[in-house]
Amino acid sequence: RSGRLGGLNNVENSGAPDSKNIRVKLVLLGDSGVGKSCIVLRFVRGQFDPTSKVTVGASFLSQTIALQDSTTVKFEIWDTAGQERYAALAPLYYRGAGVAVIVYDITSPESFNKAQYWVKELQKHGSPDIVMALVGNKADLWTNREVPTQDGIDYAENNGMFFIETSAKTADNINQLFEEIAKRLPRPSSS
Ligand code: GDP
Repeated sequence: RSGRLGGLNNVENSGAPDSKNIRVKLVLLGDSGVGKSCIVLRFVRGQFDPTSKVTVGASFLSQTIALQDSTTVKFEIWDTAGQERYAALAPLYYRGAGVAVIVYDITSPESFNKAQYWVKELQKHGSPDIVMALVGNKADLWTNREVPTQDGIDYAENNGMFFIETSAKTADNINQLFEEIAKRLPRPSSS
């Protein structure tokens, strides 16, 4: 009655038969130091604490949000825990992911290039119905900006992705990021 959904491999209805409770695996990808852990901490705990690394290991953090149409979305968030250094492990990490959040740092063109590498990687090896978001983080450092907002917009548009600039430090657009992703998830068919 609940659980299995025709055609949607990576988004599951985890609630009662009539509820609209969606559960989805979300992975973060991007260069080391772009702020992935800080984005997760800000979203899940409402904090910015650069000294406390999210220790993930075998586990993940989860956070549920409610949308206006009364759908709830439970994100199971997998941080890379340094796996960006081991590209060969990446496919294990994003297997089964319904959402990929690809993060760069707006002060670092190298990190923007790396983000594009991850997009291509997911286009090749990720699930075909994965929802991808491109995130330009550290927007509070706009005085040191080296990646124009328009470059992010253009790249995302050309690759069918959602784009947003965030700051984990000031909390700017962090909740919006996850809400926009939630809205874009394929909905379980009610049957
Ligand atoms: P990760 O390796 O991608 O997980 O990056 P971290 O979350 O560990 O962050 C790397 C560094 O960037 C830390 O020193 C954070 O304090 C800093 N940082 C993360 N997000 C922001 C942000 O939005 N603004 C600023 N100014 N610094 C940030």
